Amino acid sequence: MIYDVAIIGAGIIGASVAYSLSRYDLSVVLLEKECDVALGTTRANSGIVHAGYDPPVGSLMAALNVEGNALMPDLCRDLDVLFEPCGSLVVAHNADEDKVVRELFARGLQNGVPDMEIIGRERILSMEPNLNAAVTTALWAPTAGIVNPWDLCIAMCEVFVRLGGRILLNSEVLATGRDDGHWCLTIPSGTIRAQRVINTAGLYSDEVHAQVSPPDFTILPARGQYYLLDKSQGNQVRSVIFSCPAKDTKGVVVTRTVHGNLMIGPTKEYIHDKDDTATTADGLREIRKKALKMVGSINFRENIANFSGIRANPDKDDFLIRKVSDVDHYYEAAGIKSPGLASAPAIGRYVVDLLREDGVPLPEKQRVLDDPLTMTRRIVRFNRMRPDEREALVKKDARYGRIVCRCETVTEGEVLDAIHSPLPAQTIDAVKRRTAAGLGRCQGGFCGPRIAALLAEELHLRPTEIIKDRTGSYLFTGPTGAEHSGKEPRDAR
Ligand SMILES: Cc1cc2nc3c(=O)[nH]c(=O)nc-3n(C[C@H](O)[C@H](O)[C@H](O)COP(=O)(O)OP(=O)(O)OC[C@H]3O[C@@H](n4cnc5c(N)ncnc54)[C@H](O)[C@@H]3O)c2cc1C
Repeated sequence: MIYDVAIIGAGIIGASVAYSLSRYDLSVVLLEKECDVALGTTRANSGIVHAGYDPPVGSLMAALNVEGNALMPDLCRDLDVLFEPCGSLVVAHNADEDKVVRELFARGLQNGVPDMEIIGRERILSMEPNLNAAVTTALWAPTAGIVNPWDLCIAMCEVFVRLGGRILLNSEVLATGRDDGHWCLTIPSGTIRAQRVINTAGLYSDEVHAQVSPPDFTILPARGQYYLLDKSQGNQVRSVIFSCPAKDTKGVVVTRTVHGNLMIGPTKEYIHDKDDTATTADGLREIRKKALKMVGSINFRENIANFSGIRANPDKDDFLIRKVSDVDHYYEAAGIKSPGLASAPAIGRYVVDLLREDGVPLPEKQRVLDDPLTMTRRIVRFNRMRPDEREALVKKDARYGRIVCRCETVTEGEVLDAIHSPLPAQTIDAVKRRTAAGLGRCQGGFCGPRIAALLAEELHLRPTEIIKDRTGSYLFTGPTGAEHSGKEPRDAR
């Protein structure tokens, strides 16, 4: 078969393009090199829906950030994704930083960011009583928010699959060629043919581009390290708190997550290896010091995890979203650095517009026209339900009455929903990304074995075949009690 469109890379950008295209009567395939979606930069970032005062005036980043921010609340409502419009503060502590706050405000006005204000110490401290009392002014941007990046990516992919899209995991595009007027993408299991290709390969977008023509950009990977603190620290701040950016030092963010933890980071270190997600004592010390300068009461002994994400910074100061000029029917959304997450809903639409301008016929699917709810998703979140809703659900299906993850109150029913969803969870961390089981204080110590047993039972896997996250991250070296569950394990491949 020859697909109408092949998308390379299932991060938040590939997912948004796929979701936007799922409205139209096209055959679309999304190719991802890892064993799940959202395993690249989309997995580890600050999760902030920036208001849009940061990007340079007149840039594509500025326009798409402001548009993406405006689209985010409705999109998250439609897809049942956790999002909180908590607003953000950039806080200043001296006259130089006050000047930066004023500059950001002026830039925000030019970028079209609504409702911003510069506020003084009294108001800042009434909003955020735990901030250092030496704060002088702050830029308040009420349209900023926080979102769960991987949940948004998964939700968009699930709707894409439900509407007929195909996702091929473990399908790294190794080479791209032309044959008889269409593209041929070589993946480990064979060749995928498509009329048009969209490169959304994140950190690897320059290398994927090089498969068809010499790229005019290079991706410079920049690592960001984080602390994730227990929920006991989640109430230290109400909104997203940014320190003032300065010429020679990178600011730091103190923010709640949508799950109620406190997240602090990131560093910014240019590295050579695009997959080097190590954390370092120096990096963590640096962000701890900066965060305590803003919020002195943070208790870092409540740390439950450290992690790193890698930015796909291009050597150009803007997103590169365009038709590739020296080849036919090839498009890219490359160099999507921050605010890529905030901009993602708008980037999906922008890429659809590129196809439309290029003459691609885009008739809407009849089932989308008949029922707009087709583009939406609903999932069970037991820990957010009222007691009467929980009772009714458990009466209907007892599996929702069995708690698997005590930290996050996730039930067996939700884990099974994830394993049998349109984009099935097949690893321990894929279940975590879909249900939050394992995200809490014990970091999967309690629920990990039960989730492994459920994966083994439902997918007919031997325990030795179960992986934690990426391909090869095996957990067991021999038989476990799960093999005696009464179900036949699947033959080892
Ligand atoms: C530390 C940090 C903090 C950030 N904070 C924020 C924030 O608060 N707000 C915000 O808006 N943005 C933020 N960002 C930026 C945001 O995370 C990114 O812009 C966004 O995740 C980029 O998504 P993507 O889909 O382009 O890339 P990715 O998520 O990396 O997706 C690309 C996908 O392509 C796949 N791939 C690569 N090569 C191939 C191939 N050859 N074949 C098949 N698949 C391939 C990869 O496996 C990956 O899944 C932050 C980034 C970092 C690192």
